[in-house]
This record gives sequence, C-alpha cells and structure tokens, in this order.
Amino acid sequence: MTPQPNPQVGAAVKAADRAHVFHSWSAQELIDPLAVAGAEGSYFWDYEGNRYLDFTSGLVYTNIGYQHPKVVAAIQEQAATMTTFAPAFAVEARSEAARLIAERTPGDLDKIFFTNGGADAVEHATRMARLHTGRPKVLAAYRSYHGGTQQAINLTGDPRRWASDTGTAGVVHFWAPYLYRSRFYAETERQECERALQHLEDTIVFEGAQTVAAIILETVPGTAGIMIPPPGYLAGVRALCDKYGIVFVLDEVMAGFGRTGEWFAADLFDVTPDLMTFAKGVNSGYVPLGGVAISGEIAETFAKRPYPGGLTYSGHPLACAAAVATLNVMADEGVVDHAANLGAQVIEPGLRALAERHPSVGEVRGVGMFWALELVKNRETREPLVPYNATGEANAPMAAFGAAAKKHGLWPFINMNRTHVVPPCNITETEAKEGLAALDAALSVADEHT
Ligand code: PMP
Repeated sequence: MTPQPNPQVGAAVKAADRAHVFHSWSAQELIDPLAVAGAEGSYFWDYEGNRYLDFTSGLVYTNIGYQHPKVVAAIQEQAATMTTFAPAFAVEARSEAARLIAERTPGDLDKIFFTNGGADAVEHATRMARLHTGRPKVLAAYRSYHGGTQQAINLTGDPRRWASDTGTAGVVHFWAPYLYRSRFYAETERQECERALQHLEDTIVFEGAQTVAAIILETVPGTAGIMIPPPGYLAGVRALCDKYGIVFVLDEVMAGFGRTGEWFAADLFDVTPDLMTFAKGVNSGYVPLGGVAISGEIAETFAKRPYPGGLTYSGHPLACAAAVATLNVMADEGVVDHAANLGAQVIEPGLRALAERHPSVGEVRGVGMFWALELVKNRETREPLVPYNATGEANAPMAAFGAAAKKHGLWPFINMNRTHVVPPCNITETEAKEGLAALDAALSVADEHT
C-alpha cells in the first residue's frame, strides 16, 4: 500500500537516525540516509511521497520483492504459535526449511547448518573444511566479498578487507577469471579459463597442497562485479580440489535462490561443491537467516565427533517459517524461470541497447536478474569512469550518475565504476522497462565524463 506522504514524521525518523544509528561501512557525518516510509513489491517510498523502483533488491536479497503477503502471513502465523525455540530442539519450521533447501541444493548437499546471515555461514564453512581436512589454509579470490566478520573479511578480496585485515596466516588470495580486465593477458574466454586454472594450481602447489583446507569462490562473484566464470572454470576448480584433497566451498549468499535464473548459480555450471553457503534470497531477507549446505562426506566427519560451533539463533523459527513460505512462493509462482526468461528477453537486450547508445558503458555482463554495467572513460583503453576505490571528488562521476537515476525514480546499485542491475527476481516486464528507461537517462549523465 502506498504510504501517505508525511515529511514531519520523516524528519523525526531521520533526526533519530542521525543522533543514534551508527551505520555500516560509513563515515558517520558524511552520509545522508533516506528515511523510508514503506515498501511493496519492487518499489519503496520516502516520506515526501517519492517512489523509487528498487534495482538493488535491498542488498541483493529481496528476491521476491517487499511485503509478499504469503511470507508476511507465514511470519505472523509462526509468531502466533512459536516465536522462538532454541536450536537443540527439532522444530517444525526449522526441519521443513532444511528439507526444502536440501531438496533444491545440488548433489548430496543434504544437511543444513543454519546461521544468521552470510558472513557467519562463511565462518562455519571454512571451520568445517579445516576440521575435515586437518589443514590450515583457505584460498580465496581477490575480487570477492564474503562478509564482514573477521574470517569472512580476511577472505574477502575487495578493499573493505584492508582496514580490518589481521594478516591472518591461513588465508591466501588468487586471481579468478575476469576477461574484461584479464590478469592473464588472455583474449578469449578459453585462454582466460586455462590460465586462471593454471594460476590456481600453481598457487596450490607453491603453498603446499597438504596445507590447503579449502578453496572458496562465489559461484558468480557479486559485489566485486558479476563476473560470469568462463565455461569450464568451475569444473576445473572442482577437479583441482579432487586432485589435491581440498574442500570446494561455493559462496551462493548473493547468487543463490533464483538470482541467476536457476535455484543456485552452481546449477548453471553443473558443478557440485562440498559446502555451499547461502543467506539473503533464502527468505528474501524478511528475517535474518543464512546457512551452510553440507555434503554427505563432510557431514560424516561430524557424525560421531561433535561439530564445535553454534549460534543462539541458529534456525530461528521466524526466519525458517519465512524461508518455507518464500521457497513455496518461488516454486508456486515460477519465480526462478521468470528471472531466467525476463533476464534473457528484456534485461539483457535492454542493457545491450543502452551500451550501444552510451559511450560510458564499457561492458555489459550477467545472467538472470544479476547484471553489471561497467562504466568507463574510454572504451578503447577501458579506463574506469572513476579510479579503483575512489571516494569524494574522485568519485563525482558515479555520484552524479546515481543522483540522476534517483531523480528518475530508480534506486541504483553502485559499486566503484559499476552499476549492478539486480532487481527482485519477480519484477514485472513493465517495471523492468521503466527501470531501463531511467538508466538510459542516468547514463547520459555518465557520458558527460567520458
Ligand atoms: N557472501 C557473499 C557472496 C555476499 O554477497 C555477502 C553479502 N553481500 C556475504 C557473504 C555476507 O553476508 P551477510 O552480510 O549476510 O553477513
């Protein structure tokens, strides 16, 4: 329901926020958070009555949009019957959520360890891998984001790691494929794939395979730029893990639950990891939930020996009830196929048409409801529209692009020199076209900086 404009309440909400809320990843006095009055489906409203089409899905998690009535009702019903119960007990919402998730995950990833979100899923996946192998190190990609807790931020490759990096022994970074800015001087996907795999094998061998517990990769790196891995890469990583007895962890926190037009991005590449982390889309983020899907072999390690880890709210009934309802909505409403089809038939051609018209668009890449436009000063040299990790004045062209999008009623996802097109997976064709038209207008502003 569209909320009534109420600037006075908006001002009070904003004032309390500014006085007391300490925001993530931010210089507290340099930010200006929008006060949000309400949200429904693919839209949200501020207190002035402005409506925004959310091309960010929150933080890429509202895969079925805001306020889906069936999920809201399921949460209300769970709250009325059993709001909470400790993790050591068998609880209907929890066991049903685990069953439904295990049914969708690839291969024999049939046991589910629940967490509160993505970062703690990564913490536990790497802990399981170390305990399972008895080895200390985890290899992770430079262009990656795995979460904000200590282990997850150390594994993360993007610059958010720097300030918190403890230089922990046990984390080694490597380069994953990214043909547009190839680290391997590759000109084709095939070269990029072969050379990236050779580089990874060299890293394993030179680190000492017997010291490597796990390789963790986002199946499709999200925050770092939605780089679809070339054909054969993930299968190649799987083969290296098998060759050297390494646990393969796929992080599907962002890419999972319909985002790529498959239930999991792993399905796109027909690859099964040993551990798979998830969060976000599992219940559209209505109540915090994440987890690790565990293979039979790793589950066996902890069959007779205790798993030394847990969380007070693991498998919280409200979050699990929201997951059950979300997974049922996704199946009943065909959300996954919708994401695949609308992505291929509307979003992709729409973005490619924008690239033709706007010199600031260097590359369009993605799949399903998971797309990135890489903005450049110069298409020939591929010089980014703003320098890597730019802030303040240096970031002005991207800030101008963002402001223009908002002026046209579109809330864009912006990271460095990219805008990601990551709307809810059930966005309608009309809404998608409305968003593309707003992007068209905003890109004209970006063009002024080429
Ligand atoms: N892994 C990936 C791939 C992510 O995208 C994110 C969040 N953006 C995380 C882990 C961390 O999840 P959370 O913020 O729920 O801890």
